[in-house]
Amino acid sequence: MDIVQRLKKLVDHKTSIGIFSIVPIGVFAIQGNGVTMICTNCFEAEYKTTKTELTVTVNGESHVLRDLDCETCPACGESIFTHAQSLEIDKKRVTLEFGLKPLLTSDQLKTLRRVLDMKLAEICDLLHVGRNTYGRWERGEVEITPSMNLLVHSLMEKMPDVCDKVIKK
Ligand SMILES: [Zn+2]
Repeated sequence: MDIVQRLKKLVDHKTSIGIFSIVPIGVFAIQGNGVTMICTNCFEAEYKTTKTELTVTVNGESHVLRDLDCETCPACGESIFTHAQSLEIDKKRVTLEFGLKPLLTSDQLKTLRRVLDMKLAEICDLLHVGRNTYGRWERGEVEITPSMNLLVHSLMEKMPDVCDKVIKK
């Protein structure tokens, strides 16, 4: 029997006991009409989808993300996240972070420029925003746009002293 035949026999054998491929997050096996994963920690059981929660830190504060799907091994308790589950967690974390950055008020925007000691033209050049636009935000004639609000928040996060003076004055 040559090497190709032996490999084919091995693959046939693996297929017959239900394993058809090994990927980084687990050993997939065909069961019924779905695809399940055998625990890569103990190889004793298949992962079952369960719920978990994670603590994330946003702006130095802890927040709990609840009701997150994960795969848990009933035999050894090992838990993993599939790629799709990790993506869902990332989306929830980003949504949480964005939600924790309320729109800056006109007073906060004025304070920001005073604390930074910048002229209107300077901050507008920095943010790539028109002077009339920024002026309207500072005067409270219109609200800062959500995307620019996030940009200003991320700039302030790089300067904690400035952030403290603008947000908690
Ligand atoms: Zn296990």
